Amino acid sequence: MTQKRRVRVRFAPSPTGPLHIGGVRTALYNYLFARHEGGDMILRIEDTDSQRFVPGAEDYIMEALEWCGIKLDEGIREGGPHAPYRQSERKEIYLKYALQLVESGNAYYAFDTAEELDALRKEAESQGRSFSYDAKVRGSLNNSLSLPADEVKARLESGAHWVIRFKMPENENVEMDDLIRGHITINTSTLDDKVLYKSADSLPTYHLANIVDDHLMEVSHVIRGEEWLPSLPLHYLLYRAFGWTDTQPQFAHLPLLLKPQGQGKLSKRDGDKFGFPVFPLEWHSAEGEKSIGYREEGYLPQAFINMLALLGWNPGTEQEIFSMDELIEAFSLEKVSKSGARFNQDKAKWFNQQYIRNSSDEFLGAQLKGMLAERGIEVTVERAAEAVALIKERAVLLKDLLPLTLYMFEAPKSYDEKSVAKFWKAEDVERFKTLREKFAGLETISVAETEPFICQWAVDNGFPLGRMMNGLRLAVLGISQGPSIFAICEFIGKEETLARMDAALAALGCPEE
Ligand code: GLU
Repeated sequence: MTQKRRVRVRFAPSPTGPLHIGGVRTALYNYLFARHEGGDMILRIEDTDSQRFVPGAEDYIMEALEWCGIKLDEGIREGGPHAPYRQSERKEIYLKYALQLVESGNAYYAFDTAEELDALRKEAESQGRSFSYDAKVRGSLNNSLSLPADEVKARLESGAHWVIRFKMPENENVEMDDLIRGHITINTSTLDDKVLYKSADSLPTYHLANIVDDHLMEVSHVIRGEEWLPSLPLHYLLYRAFGWTDTQPQFAHLPLLLKPQGQGKLSKRDGDKFGFPVFPLEWHSAEGEKSIGYREEGYLPQAFINMLALLGWNPGTEQEIFSMDELIEAFSLEKVSKSGARFNQDKAKWFNQQYIRNSSDEFLGAQLKGMLAERGIEVTVERAAEAVALIKERAVLLKDLLPLTLYMFEAPKSYDEKSVAKFWKAEDVERFKTLREKFAGLETISVAETEPFICQWAVDNGFPLGRMMNGLRLAVLGISQGPSIFAICEFIGKEETLARMDAALAALGCPEE
């Protein structure tokens, strides 16, 4: 009996910019699968395309994974048995494998210059076709299949640039299996001879480096975005050409994340257009462009991950709220859908709201303490936590905590005009003065004491309760919305309540009838 293979997955981003939420979801599904199976999660940086390299992207990727709680077993920081995990540092490895394919007749040298290929492309375009370097044309181009052996030797020795191309078999059905999509058959007549290696920079292309590294790193499952599905036949054929079919990984191509409305893939521009983040963390490009991130917008990483996990996977139950451990427990590739998952910003906010409600007052208090400190207001975590307890239900994003509580820490500097017009009536001013005296006469102003006492007084004196409470709220907070005014008075204390009422009576005075 064959031994069950150890599950090893990799997340293999190219550092070409900030990680899009689709990329985070790919990393997340890899992580959930690895943990569910008791396997390993690898981070491999695929940076062999130096032209697309963006400084800072690599650090961004790692910071984003860390924020999300996606833990790596092997990677460029973690190290591991197959280090290095950055392809640019593995440069020396790949040529040997490219040459092995030339030797076995599965690949060949090509000497066509960029200008020659460009001219062919243009010529084809002018005839309404697209140029493809494939079995039909390779015989008439400059390569080791068409040129005599001594000419090939001479060109290689001359130091002129060459590439190694895969020799795509002619008219063969490639039979493939995908854990999400099932069985797929593609005929090679639709495929071209992809470049595997370039002498100009002594670097492999994505296809070669990816297959060689997955093999060397003993990757058991390749879980990646649907955009890589067209590369699958080539990857199958590369495994076969290397003689690695027995240990070839299983593949799972994840459905696309779709725009909130309309057709197509969720793009960076959609975020700008609809005003929601498409990146986990804020990103500043070299050109000075800023893209907003979930973290900075006030999302909790647990909520973000929970939302993302359900975009393309469903547990088969009604459950929506999942901790990371619960996701690990419930996750399976069989329950990943084939069709695209539509992004929904309201749902993202809903998840965050649920997580804020379920967070402890102390945790949220610590967040609020930081936000207050930025405004020069120093409070203890305990005090901030008490304020949070009063408004927690109303917060959707972490950043809402500040506007929802600021008035508890700062006396109003102005009074909302509409509320003044509505709730500060000349006929009530004397009542507000009496109300102030009622508060002054109480020893403490706990909700238990003030609420029944003040309300009874209002009823006895024909002061409509709504008007009394909204007027009081306006005097103390400057606005007429917010949680129980008695709870706020208790929070700010008797002295501060009286001072704020005095200030309001002085500022608003007695309006003209
Ligand atoms: N470097 C590729 C990317 O940026 C990896 C694709 C794969 O997982 O094979 O998405």
